[in-house]
Amino acid sequence: MDEPFVKAKKILTTLHNNGYEAYFVGGSVRDYLLQRPIGDIDIATSARPEQIMAIFPKTIDVGAVHGTVIVLHNDEQYEVTTFRTEEGYDDYRRPSHVEFVTSLHEDLKRRDFTMNAIAMTIDGSIIDPFGGKKAIEEKRIQTVGDPNERFFEDALRMMRAVRFSSQLSFLLCKETESAIKENAALLKKISVERITIEFEKLLSGPSCQESIPILVKTNLFQYLPGFTDEIQSLVRFSYYKWSQLQERAEYWTLVCYLLNKNDSKAFLRQWKLPNKIIEQVVKNRIFLEKVIQTGWNKRLLYDCGIECIQQIERILEVLRIHQEVSPLQKFKKLPITQRSELDITGEDFLLWYKQKPGKWVADLYEIVENAILENKVENNKEKIKEWLLSCNQK
Ligand code: ATP
Ligand code: MG
Repeated sequence: MDEPFVKAKKILTTLHNNGYEAYFVGGSVRDYLLQRPIGDIDIATSARPEQIMAIFPKTIDVGAVHGTVIVLHNDEQYEVTTFRTEEGYDDYRRPSHVEFVTSLHEDLKRRDFTMNAIAMTIDGSIIDPFGGKKAIEEKRIQTVGDPNERFFEDALRMMRAVRFSSQLSFLLCKETESAIKENAALLKKISVERITIEFEKLLSGPSCQESIPILVKTNLFQYLPGFTDEIQSLVRFSYYKWSQLQERAEYWTLVCYLLNKNDSKAFLRQWKLPNKIIEQVVKNRIFLEKVIQTGWNKRLLYDCGIECIQQIERILEVLRIHQEVSPLQKFKKLPITQRSELDITGEDFLLWYKQKPGKWVADLYEIVENAILENKVENNKEKIKEWLLSCNQK
């Protein structure tokens, strides 16, 4: 048994010694069977929340009405949850109330996917009533029971299915995928905060590139804030190795860049992201566009600062791999690509300055071209005239 479980055994022993059943459950058992690094250890028990709090010296009541108590042991936190079913789903959200039950089997049955509905005893025996181990071996994501019913109960499970496909490099089984397609619109009922957590996990998973097309195929993307009708941009999401990014702000900067959102702030507010992240993305976005246009220069580096430079470089790396910012792309994005595109001619200079032709005309051409390339002035006759006169060029 892996080290994190060994450390947590004491919790199970204490529960057993007090006459309760207790098992390791959920993601940690799945990850153990997959030989992946184990995250949080969840424990399911027949003890009621008040009984859990009575037998452990250090506990935090994080949701006793839903059956969950955090037990602190040797500087670790363990979520200990009473066996329960979830009843009376209001509006396809979280259950309106939970019912505590006495059997582990009932508790496993309410869990989302077969791979997450496996329990492990203190001595490492596996209890797997829904064929979760086989699903893991076959790298398959399948709901416990009828997928339509399970997504109807809690629509977030559809997002969870896609994020697990990204994190674990698993495939959705056929029925599960078609049920998502059928029920995608139910995602509207889910709070944005819960969707955001799953979407971020999806983007940072190693198989994100394979999972994005599932969002497209199932139509689930239509119900992500700000993604309605963004199918073309979303398809481009799957070109990039998102997992090379590190910070949350980097992910969201790339999202805004690929969706070409004019107002990143409004878009990110829809996702209910913290202000700190929103501010960082807005800053990243401005500098990203500038660096793509002109490359780094001293002023840009100075204004951007070390943290932002590192974030932008990682984003550029992801974009470069796909040649998104090759010199050719940069060339195509220039405000003008040759002199004939200028909205003015030498005649205009002669007219404006009322002087004889001479070398000054060629010099002026160059000044105007530079100003347009540097975005100091728009390629528009009136604007150029205004700019030339205002800064007294020539
Ligand atoms: P991670 O490694 O990302 O934490 P996890 O499987 O542990 O993955 P959690 O969100 O921590 O996911 O949930 C713990 C367990 O609770 C799951 O493995 C699953 O058994 C159950 N669960 C979580 N969310 C749901 C849900 N919406 N519906 C049904 N069961 C759920
Ligand atoms: Mg977990």
